[in-house]
Amino acid sequence: MFGKILIANRGEIALRVLRACKELGIATVAVHSTADEDAMHVRLADESVCIGPPPARDSYLNIPQILAACEITGADAVHPGYGFLSENARFAEILEAHKVAFIGPSAEHIRIMGDKIEAKKTAERLGIPIVPGSDGGVANEIAARKIAAEVGYPVLIKAAAGGGGKGMKVARTPDELPDAFATARAEARASFGDDALYVEKYLGKPRHIEIQVLGDGKNSGVHLGERDCSLQRRHQKVWEEGPSPVIDEEARSRIGGVVADAVGSLGYSGAGTVEFLFENGEFYFIEMNTRLQVEHPVTEAITGIDLVNEQIRIAAGRGISFGQDAVTFEGHAIECRINAEDPRTFAASPGRIANYHPPGGLGVRVDSAVYQGYRIPPFYDSLIGKLIVHGRDRTECMMRLRRALDEFVIDGIRTTIPLFRDLVVDEEIVAGQYDIHWLEKRLSASVDAHGRTG
Ligand code: ADP
Repeated sequence: MFGKILIANRGEIALRVLRACKELGIATVAVHSTADEDAMHVRLADESVCIGPPPARDSYLNIPQILAACEITGADAVHPGYGFLSENARFAEILEAHKVAFIGPSAEHIRIMGDKIEAKKTAERLGIPIVPGSDGGVANEIAARKIAAEVGYPVLIKAAAGGGGKGMKVARTPDELPDAFATARAEARASFGDDALYVEKYLGKPRHIEIQVLGDGKNSGVHLGERDCSLQRRHQKVWEEGPSPVIDEEARSRIGGVVADAVGSLGYSGAGTVEFLFENGEFYFIEMNTRLQVEHPVTEAITGIDLVNEQIRIAAGRGISFGQDAVTFEGHAIECRINAEDPRTFAASPGRIANYHPPGGLGVRVDSAVYQGYRIPPFYDSLIGKLIVHGRDRTECMMRLRRALDEFVIDGIRTTIPLFRDLVVDEEIVAGQYDIHWLEKRLSASVDAHGRTG
């Protein structure tokens, strides 16, 4: 097992990883920017190293500094969390060259899945159902038009290097195609420095269903069921739950089995998430994330399995601690992403937390790194915490979520808590009837009702 793990991240996920290390008896090193000197992960780690000024490119994305921090502290492994360097193949390679383990898959697998065109080809080869569309990239608008005519409108133009919902444009008719193509290309170039595009059939009312997997790096994989992440704003997840209200046991074990076998035959190592759109009973692969996801606690709640502990074990060559037969699903879990944002305009709301009181009680988990008096720096993501609630069934879970949201106090800044208080009592949400467009529609309806400036 590793002796000391450096956590190359910040915020709630740095704390999450730190907790797993402590429970395994592994020493921890926190790295931080000058803006995060007072951060919780810095306070709780055994050692900490300042790696640069506030902008992420100078600190949390600064590979030479992180490598130097490994050398100074003698860390023998790095956990990248999510975001930042977690899907950077070069980072994984550089660590390996310096005899520091990267807690995640091989650089090769990160690279394949990081290129969505490659990822889709690989998925198809492994027997995973994909969204109909171009067989690889489309070089220009004429090629895109040809594919669109074949698969039928509407279509989605997507960036091969895409992430965070960027570089993605819908063309509903042939007339809309030139604009969609040009905008997607410009956005892809600006955001990723790579303007390779591909075309996909745009599904009208799908749900976003993702399968959590673990691979042992040899030839076997297990799946831990699905999470339903259909409630999204600008293609970003807002609320995640498991099991999905629309997936039955048969569908779960069928798609789970396909994904676990695929991960096994790839020789994939560590945790990963295979994302699908689900419509009319069919699954369509969209991408694979080769890291821990923000919403992993949903799976932990319903399976009782510590995913970070498994990631560390696998990276240390100890394999997965259980087999597929041992995986059982109990009850229902929902996660709400608490952002430091205005709940109506979604404008960032950094600042000092004047009052903080997280909810507690049976079945309630809060993953957050904030505290009373903490000043949220304006340099990073607006996610400040996650509320995860577990109940014996969805009804109990929803009632528990309602009361947990009532208890939650974060004063001094604006947060998305009021949005969740509305969602948890919404009839359609209570009934589990929503697709990936539901939240956007709801938000624009309430803006219209309240007046755009109100
Ligand atoms: P990113 O990596 O930018 O998050 P994804 O490919 O994972 O991009 O897609 C993000 C979201 O965009 C999905 O959850 C879904 O809401 C929407 N989306 C992606 N592909 C399609 C499609 N073919 N049809 C309809 N919606 C899609």
